[in-house]
Amino acid sequence: MHEQSLVKTLIDQVQEESRIRGLGRVHEVHLRVGEFSGIEPRLLESAFAEMAPAYWDTLVQLSVEVMPLTATCETCHEVFHVEGFHFVCPRCGGNVQVIAGEEMQLVSLRAERQAGCEEVSQ
Ligand SMILES: [Zn+2]
Repeated sequence: MHEQSLVKTLIDQVQEESRIRGLGRVHEVHLRVGEFSGIEPRLLESAFAEMAPAYWDTLVQLSVEVMPLTATCETCHEVFHVEGFHFVCPRCGGNVQVIAGEEMQLVSLRAERQAGCEEVSQ
């Protein structure tokens, strides 16, 4: 399944970021998914919920923000939201270039710091 390989990539990325930044337990992963990325947020969330327990022993929340499909006109440089997959400039009818809405991007992590959060057991 498409979403599962995306989630695997995402989990690798989260783990790498956590390692680099010395983070403790990850609580939440904030992701941006383009409207035109071909990714279904709901499927991504369920694949994540299914796969995450194999990597973390605590519950990690995935929050997905959908980014609108945005393009700019090559002629008049108008920036607009592409609706109905109509890839033509609404102002001058010129050719357009997509600038957002095709991406999958890890935005932020909410996590405990490695240091200072450890419970001292008796
Ligand atoms: Zn234009």
